Amino acid sequence: MKKIAILGSTGSIGTQTLEIVRNNEDLQVVALAAGSNVELMEKQVREFKPFVVAMWSEKACEELKIRVADTPVKVLCGMDGLLQIAVMEEMEVLVTAIVGMIGIRPTIAAIEKGKTIALANKETLVTAGHIIMPLAAEKHVDILPVDSEHSAIFQSMNGESKRRISKILLTASGGPFRGKSKEQLWDMKVEDALRHPNWAMGRKITIDSATMVNKGLEVIEAKWLFGVELPRIEVVVHPQSIIHSMVEYVDGAVMAQLGTPDMKLPIAYALFYPDRRPMDGKKVDFFDLKQLTFEKPDLETFTGLKLAFEAAKLGGSMPTVYNAANEKAVSLFLNRQIGFMQIPELIEASMRKHRPIENPNVEEILQAEAETYEYIKQVVN
Ligand code: NDP
Repeated sequence: MKKIAILGSTGSIGTQTLEIVRNNEDLQVVALAAGSNVELMEKQVREFKPFVVAMWSEKACEELKIRVADTPVKVLCGMDGLLQIAVMEEMEVLVTAIVGMIGIRPTIAAIEKGKTIALANKETLVTAGHIIMPLAAEKHVDILPVDSEHSAIFQSMNGESKRRISKILLTASGGPFRGKSKEQLWDMKVEDALRHPNWAMGRKITIDSATMVNKGLEVIEAKWLFGVELPRIEVVVHPQSIIHSMVEYVDGAVMAQLGTPDMKLPIAYALFYPDRRPMDGKKVDFFDLKQLTFEKPDLETFTGLKLAFEAAKLGGSMPTVYNAANEKAVSLFLNRQIGFMQIPELIEASMRKHRPIENPNVEEILQAEAETYEYIKQVVN
C-alpha cells in the first residue's frame, strides 16, 4: 500500500489523482485538503475514507465538521490543517495540487519530514525553488513532477547523465490565442480565454495558458527542477500537444515523451515511479495524426512569457512578484474587473516597481507577494 495525501483534492489535478486511486487498489488516501468546496469534499470523505481532511476557509471547515460528524475523519482548518497533513506520520507521498503560493509552507514542511513530493503546484518552485531544491537534496527527498511538460523532461532523462544535457525543449500548445495579434487580444473575453484547444484544466491555469504566463512559470519551474540554466531552456510551440517536451543531449540526440493530452499519465507516473501502470484512454495514433508542427513563440504579442525570462534572470524575489502579480491579475480578469491584456501589463508594472531581494526566505517571499497584491489593488482602484 502506498499512502498518499492530496492538497487540492477537489480541483482538476486532485480529482484526476483520485480517479487513479479508484483504479489502483495499492494506493490509499490518508488525507485530503481543499479550499471551500464542502460538497465535493464530503463525497470524497465518504468514498476514500481519509483519516484527516482540511478546509482552508473557516466557514467551509465548520460546515464540513457537521456534515461528516457520523464518520471517524478528523477535520482541520486553514494553514494549520495543511501543515498537519504535510507532516503526517502515516503519509508517504504528498500530492501538491493546490493552486497558488499557499503551497510553499506545506511543501517545505513535508520535505523536512522526508516525504516524497508529487509536485503539481508550480508556483511553489517558481517562488521558492532556491529553498526547496537544496532542502530536498539535503533530506534525500524525491520531487516528482506532475506537470506534463516536466514529467516528459523527467522521463526523457531516464538513464541519462544530467551533465550531458545541452538543451531542454519545453513544448507549448500556444493556447487559444495562438496566431492572434496584440490588437486582437485586447477584445478577448473570459469565455474566449477559458476555451483551451487541447487541455481541460482549472480556471487559473487555463487563463495562464492563454497569456502564455503558464509557459513562463514552467520555464522557471524547469530551471529549478532540473538544475539547467535559462539560456539552455527553449520554448517550442507545438499546437498538437502530443510531444510533451524534449531533451537535447551534447551529441545532438533528442529524447522526447509523447502521448495524448491527458494529465492522468504524468500523475500516475509520479505516483508509481519508476513503475508504469496500464491506463485506459486514447493512445497516440500516428496515422491519424499525420503531422506534428512547431513554431517559435511570439514574444512580442505574448509578453507574459518574455517577462518570465526577465524575472528568472533577475532572480531573488522577482519571480515571486511575477507570479503574485499574475495571480492577482488573473483573478481580477476572471471577475471581469480588468481586460485580458491588462494581465501582462500589471505583471510588468509590478516588476518595474519591485527591488529584488537576493535569496529571500519564506517570510520575505510572502512579504513580496503581499506588497505586489497591495500595489495592484492601488493601481486598479
Ligand atoms: P483547480 O483550480 O482546479 O484546483 C485547485 C485546488 O486547490 C482545489 O481543490 C481548491 O479547493 C484547492 N485550493 C485552492 N485554494 C486553497 C487553499 N487556500 N487551501 C487549500 N486548498 C486550496 O487547479 P488545478 O488542479 O488546475 O491546478 C492545481 C495546481 O496544479 C496549479 O498550481 C497548476 O498550475 C498546477 N497544474 C495543473 C494542471 C492541470 O492540468 N490542471 C497541469 C499542470 C500543473 P476548492 O475546490 O475548494 O476551491
